[in-house]
Amino acid sequence: MNLFEGLTDSFGRRIDYLRVSVTERCDLRCAYCHPGRHVQRNSPDVLSIDNVVAIADAALRLGIRRIRLTGGEPLLRADLEDIVARLSQLDGLADLALTTNGRALSGRAGALAAAGLRRVNISLDSLSPQVYAAMTGGGSVEAVLRGLEAALAAGLEPVKVNAVLAGGAPLEQCDLASFVKLVRSRPVHVRFIEAMPTCSHVDYLPARGVLEQLSQFGALAPVPGPAGGGPARYFRLDGSQGTLGVIAPLSEPFCADCNRLRVSARGDLLPCLFSPQGTSLLPALRGDDPVRDLTALLRESAAAKPSRGGDVATASGVAAMHVVGG
Ligand code: SAM
Repeated sequence: MNLFEGLTDSFGRRIDYLRVSVTERCDLRCAYCHPGRHVQRNSPDVLSIDNVVAIADAALRLGIRRIRLTGGEPLLRADLEDIVARLSQLDGLADLALTTNGRALSGRAGALAAAGLRRVNISLDSLSPQVYAAMTGGGSVEAVLRGLEAALAAGLEPVKVNAVLAGGAPLEQCDLASFVKLVRSRPVHVRFIEAMPTCSHVDYLPARGVLEQLSQFGALAPVPGPAGGGPARYFRLDGSQGTLGVIAPLSEPFCADCNRLRVSARGDLLPCLFSPQGTSLLPALRGDDPVRDLTALLRESAAAKPSRGGDVATASGVAAMHVVGG
C-alpha cells in the first residue's frame, strides 16, 4: 500500500492533524483539567525526543500535515526547543504549533520560533489576577501576558488564547469586557471553550450565551478563522485587531469534522479525545522497525475513529486532559 496516499477514516474524514502530549507534568492545577490533587509534578516524561520524532515521522508519511505539541505543560520540558528543531526538519510538515499555559513563554518564545515553531495557543481563562489564580491554583495573569507579548514579538502568529469558562460562575462574572479590550488592542484570537466533563462534572457555559453577552460590546461579524483549521467559530468587533471565537464541543458538537489523532504523554495513541483507552506505541517505538509498526498503528487508529465522541456531556473513564493534552 502506498504510504503517501493520506489517512482517511471509515466515515470519510481526512485525518491530517496529530496532537502529541509531550509530558503529563503541569505547573498549574486547573480544576476542570486535573482529576484531584494527585497529579505527579515530577513524573518522568515517557516519550523521548527520538520517540516524538519517530511518531511524527511515521504520521507525516501517512499524510498528517499539522502537528501540535501539548501536555501537561510542554514548557516544563527543558528539551522542547530541541523537539521543535527536530520536528521542523521533517519532510511534509506544514504546521507546527504549541499549546501552553504561557507561564514560562516570555523567556522561550524567541528560541522556540528560531527552532521552527510556527504558532502558539495560550490558555488564559480569566484576565482577573484573582480569578485566574484561583482557577489555576496560583497562576499569574501578568506572566501569561508577558508570554503572549513575547509570542507576538517572536512572530509565533496567529496567537490564539484558549479561555475555558467553567465552574458555574454567572457569565456576568467572567469579565468578558477584559477579553474584548484585549482583542481590540492586540492581534490575538480569543476562543471561549465549553468545559468538557472529562475528569469530573464541571458546569459549562454554552457558547450561545457567551456570544449573546459579547454582542453587548458591538456587532459580531462572522469572519474566517486565522490559520489552524480547528473547530472554532470566529467573529470580529468593528475596529478590533484580533477576533473573538467560541469552541462548543457540548452544545454544538463538531465530531463530523474531526481531523485528528492524539498521542498521550504515556505513549498511547487515541483515535478520539473521549476514547477510554488507547493503543500503546511503546512496543513499536522499541521494536525492530518503528516506521513500519507505527504507521500500521496509526492506520488502525484512524480506522477505529468513532463517528462521534459518545455522550460527551457525561464522559467518564476517559484519560485525564493533562495526560491526553486537550
Ligand atoms: N498546559 C497547556 C495549556 O494550559 O494549554 C496544554 C495542556 S491543556 C490540557 C490544553 C488545553 O485543554 C487547554 O487550553 C485547556 O484549557 C484545555 N482543557 C483542559 N481541560 C479541559 C476541559 N475539561 N474542557 C475543555 N477544555 C479543557
